[in-house]
Amino acid sequence: MPKKRENIILKGIGVSSGIAIGRAHLIERGRVEVEERPIKKGQVEKEVTRFRRAVEQSKLQLQRVKEKLLKESAKEHVYIIDAHLLILEDKMLIDDTIKNIRERLIGAEGALKRHMHNLSMIFDRIEDEYLRARKSDIEQIGERILRNLVGKKHDGLSHIKEKVIIVAHDLTPSDTAQMKKDKILGFVTDIGGRTSHTSIVARSLEIPAVVGLDNVTQQIMPGDIIVLDGMTGVVIINPPKSVFKAYLERSQNYQYFEEELLRFKKLPAVTKDGHSVRLAGNIELPEEIPSLSEHGAEGIGLYRTEFLYMGKRLPVEEDHFETYRKLAEGVAPYSATIRTLDMGGDKMVSHIEWAEEINPAMGLRAIRFSLKEVELFQTQLRGILRASAYGKLKIMFPMISGMQELRQAKGILEEVRKELDSKGIAYDREMEVGIMMEIPSAAAIADILAREVDFFSIGTNDLIQYSLAIDRVNEHVAYLYEPLHPAIIRIIKGIVDSAHAAGIKVSMCGEMAGEPAYVPILLGLELDELSMNAPVIPWVKKIVRAMSASEAKKLLRDVMAFSTATEIEGRVREHMAELFPDEFVR
Ligand code: PEP
Ligand code: MG
Repeated sequence: MPKKRENIILKGIGVSSGIAIGRAHLIERGRVEVEERPIKKGQVEKEVTRFRRAVEQSKLQLQRVKEKLLKESAKEHVYIIDAHLLILEDKMLIDDTIKNIRERLIGAEGALKRHMHNLSMIFDRIEDEYLRARKSDIEQIGERILRNLVGKKHDGLSHIKEKVIIVAHDLTPSDTAQMKKDKILGFVTDIGGRTSHTSIVARSLEIPAVVGLDNVTQQIMPGDIIVLDGMTGVVIINPPKSVFKAYLERSQNYQYFEEELLRFKKLPAVTKDGHSVRLAGNIELPEEIPSLSEHGAEGIGLYRTEFLYMGKRLPVEEDHFETYRKLAEGVAPYSATIRTLDMGGDKMVSHIEWAEEINPAMGLRAIRFSLKEVELFQTQLRGILRASAYGKLKIMFPMISGMQELRQAKGILEEVRKELDSKGIAYDREMEVGIMMEIPSAAAIADILAREVDFFSIGTNDLIQYSLAIDRVNEHVAYLYEPLHPAIIRIIKGIVDSAHAAGIKVSMCGEMAGEPAYVPILLGLELDELSMNAPVIPWVKKIVRAMSASEAKKLLRDVMAFSTATEIEGRVREHMAELFPDEFVR
């Protein structure tokens, strides 16, 4: 019997704000695994009929969901079910699958799988990211038909009688549309993003949700108590009493809390004694741009470009250019910081050949990969430079460990500039070039690196991982992952001091920057910019405006005399509980 785990803190993407506290209810949504089964000519018609029946059954199921939604006056979500019903009418789906049965002499399941596979390849080639993301709707329909073919029940949510938090690998939009607020307190999933239909529906139903948690279904056991914060993306499994109580209080005043926070979105992030800090957003898709202005972000502090490489083919220059141009135009008058590819480690794409690495987090990732695959790197750089003519872009290299790498990367950038010059292609000649500070060796020579870049951006997710030797995705050592470890505070302070001495600015774009409780420490550290998940910005802004830079510096001085993260965390929480008794616990 595994030991009951307590106070496990996970971080995903908060896609629908609100606090939910309750018992976990795991639902099975694994893929239906089927083998391609050869059939005899005489069995063809039987398989065709089985397939047609499964399609009809799927339609009936969705019709029932639709009727239910209409009865429950949840009409605004019916369009999603209608879209799924339309997919079921799709001639290509029906004809292709039947053709596969007849010509390839295979069973209905295998024939459908083949069609789904081909469709998925077509979708991956679609340029528009929003449309490409609709692939999941089609896949969900395919899975529904498959379930009906193999007689596997769709583990619905309508039978749930107690108030629970749903834990699933993935959820379909129709699952979400059927969720009743009085039964389903919230949901958490392994996969998903802000722009999936499931997330969109969750937001409009105001059901708190956190997605993209990687392996939450393996970490949570049935009956565990979970707290989820759909604003910050934090999920806590079996929290201690004090945390439980604090979240409970916050959840009771949540609506008021959220409305009050939004009052801050248009106000400047300035402390009482006139010190300002830029609050920017971290995003991965141009479709998230509206969320930036909705929450008062001043531009994009980190645009992760890995998503562009997730399709079945590598992005070409136009893919890069179009994406970054949308960003440049979309965030005007602010700027967007584009980080060049940070692939490798825990971020992998299937169609790039990766050598087996014993320790991928320390392997050929990020800038190391780009410097090896120079053509791929140049393609991305060309896209960024060309897009820089359409607004204010900054470029940032990830995982720089020393000066040599920086000079090499800048050298390639210079070559690309010259190439564009020779062709008369416009780009922003003043575009700032910066680096992520996420490797201890770079932090140790921050003063040297600062001479050759325009800015630093501290990636605390990796900086903590490498400084404390804690694998960021290993749940066994997660308890040692301490952002307020005295070593981390000293390292950050060293980076900021070196940067300021050289006259350059420092941003922080790791998760630490979006932790409201840490705002006084971050202010005390004199960071110039904090970049975070956009929905947290109003809260951080409220805290910045309620503090003075001098009191933040004093708090920092005090905690820097402490020897452990626990003592520092305790002092910081105590300070926040005094200032904001409704929002923080000691
Ligand atoms: C970081 O390491 O803090 C960071 C922002 O980059 P990523 O999480 O993408 O590695
Ligand atoms: Mg990183």
